[in-house]
Formats: sequence, C-alpha cells, structure tokens
Amino acid sequence: KLYNQVQDLKGSIRVYCRVRPFLPGQLNSSTVSSIDDGTITIINSSKYGKEGRRSFTFNKVFGPSATQDEVFLDTQPLIRSVLDGYNVCIFAYGQTGSGKTYTMSGPRILNEQTQGVNFRALGDLFKLAEQRRGLFSYEIAVQMIEIYNEQVRDLLVSDGLNRRLEIRNNSQKGLNVPDANLVPVASTSDVMELMSLGQKNRAVGATALNDRSSRSHSCLTVHVLGRDMATGNILRGCMHLVDLAGSERVDKSEVTGERLKEAQHINKSLSALGDVIASLAQKNSHVPYRNSKLTQLLQDSLGGQAKTLMFVHISPEIDAIGETISTLKFAERVS
Ligand code: ADP
Ligand code: MG
Repeated sequence: KLYNQVQDLKGSIRVYCRVRPFLPGQLNSSTVSSIDDGTITIINSSKYGKEGRRSFTFNKVFGPSATQDEVFLDTQPLIRSVLDGYNVCIFAYGQTGSGKTYTMSGPRILNEQTQGVNFRALGDLFKLAEQRRGLFSYEIAVQMIEIYNEQVRDLLVSDGLNRRLEIRNNSQKGLNVPDANLVPVASTSDVMELMSLGQKNRAVGATALNDRSSRSHSCLTVHVLGRDMATGNILRGCMHLVDLAGSERVDKSEVTGERLKEAQHINKSLSALGDVIASLAQKNSHVPYRNSKLTQLLQDSLGGQAKTLMFVHISPEIDAIGETISTLKFAERVS
C-alpha cells in the first residue's frame, strides 16, 4: 500500500526525452547511438572513454521519427486531471533549435498532424468538458505571459511588453498573475486566435538580431472552473504550458551587455526550476520556489497534488554534443 502511494507521488513528475530529426541539408551523423523505450544512449568518444557511450533513463524517450500524435498520447491523461481540479505543468526544455516549440505548438505550417501539445491539450479539454455536460458545467479561460529578464509581461494585450506584471501567490488557485488579461475561450479556434495574437505581440519585442522567443519563457495558462451540477461544488484546475528559453550556455567571453544579462537571467531561472523539481523528486521538505520568477509563477502547480511533465529536447548533431549532455544531465537530475 505504502509502496503504491510512493509510486503515485513519484509519478507526479514525469520526464520524457525527445530527439529532433535531422533537418533538410544537415549531415546525417547522430550522437544518439540507440533508443530503447526509456533509455537513450549517446556516443561521445572524447568524453566517455574508448567506448564513448553513456546511457540515460527517463519515463520515455521519443526518437526522431516519433509523430506529434505519439508524443501527445502519453500526455493525454494529464488533461483529464485538469478537469478534475488538479494543476498541471507541461514544460519544454532544451537548447535553441532542439524542437521545444515544435513539441508545444508545432512547425510554422500547422495542420491536424503537425499541431503540437498545446492545441491538442485544449482540443481534449473542450471535448471532455462537452462529454461531461449535464454533470458538470465548465468555464475555460486562458492567459499568455512571457518572462524575460526576470520580468513578467502580458502577451495578450497589444502594449503588454511595456508593462511589468506582479506575481501574487495568495489569490485564487493558479491565478498567480491576476492583472494579466484572462480571456474566456469556447473552442480550439478561439485558442488558436489568441495564440497567434500572443506570438504577434511577442514578435514586436524582437529584432533581426534578437530572437526574443529563444531568450524568454512563454507560458500559456488554461484556467478551468467546473461546477458540479448535482452538488453545486466548485472545482478549479489549471494547466501551464511552458515553452522555456533556450538552455544553451553562452560563452561569457563572447557576449556582453544585453546578451550577457539575458543569458544570466535564463541561467538563473532554469537552474531554479531544476532545483525545485529535483527537490520535489527527492521529497525534500524545503522547496526553493522563491529563487526565480518562473518558479514563483508556477509555485502552486509544482509539487503537492499537482502533476508535472517535462519534455527535454536534444539535437542529434555532433556539434551539439556538449549541450546534449548537459540537457540529459539536467533531465536526469529532475527525474
Ligand atoms: P526550439 O523551439 O527549441 O528553438 P524549434 O521547435 O523551433 O526549436 O525547432 C527547430 C527547427 O526544427 C524548426 O524548423 C522545427 O520545425 C524543426 N523541428 C523540430 N522538431 C522537429 C520534429 N520532431 N520533426 C520535424 N521537424 C522538427
Ligand atoms: Mg522555440
């Protein structure tokens, strides 16, 4: 019995690794030597001795040919729990170009096959809410915010990048940025529209030399309020879908000024996230939520009854081996 409980608790943090396929025109020589269910083996002759192999084990590893559909299949059970009143966090971690946005949103051209986790998750939410019609009545609303240089901005208002928002952890469950626009949605097409608005607002902050999306965290939060029609009881659940900033380490001797500041903020918040998840996985009594805006924002959706899923992404190229290993080590620590 106790064993099962421990398993259940441990089961609230899951780590999936996804390997991006080679892109057209790339040299086809991979650092991934094999994938066997939850175990991925990497070749790096310079680091791991003569054999040069090292294995890492996660809840699951998706190889380069895994489809968006297959990746979502294992995420699906989490969606139901949001309607049952649980908080859920889904993260995409990895270096820039490793496929985070592909997993969460999809490629530039979207269709039913290519759309990512967030569209599918919302689609399922609406479908399940509809199936429960008569038993429960649900209201669903979304917020979309960005954390850039440890400042929180609203992506759903046109001048949102100019105004900083405060995080408040003591308000209604999951609604930790009460001043961010909260938009009711009734269908996936409503959500698609909002997401493209968010992307557009975010692009305003980017320049040709400055792809803001890889240096800030974006968080789509779905708030669900359910009313049990028989008892009148209210359930609240929320789901955070987080496309994290690129995890690559920048060379301090090469960047200065704004770039260095950005890199330091990213570094700090990703380590803080790693520390929080690792201490939850180890069941430490102290969980250091206060060390970054990201972990403060997600405080009531990490730990406790909440469920966490981390997709860690790696690029298969030989050039990326350093980042690949540091990504896998990060993932190993939080799983
Ligand atoms: P990131 O968000 O981590 O910077 P992207 O998601 O933008 O990376 O992916 C980089 C490029 O690789 C994009 O052109 C994307 O469409 C492509 N890509 C990523 N993952 C896959 C995949 N699983 N299958 C096909 N193309 C992918
Ligand atoms: Mg991206």
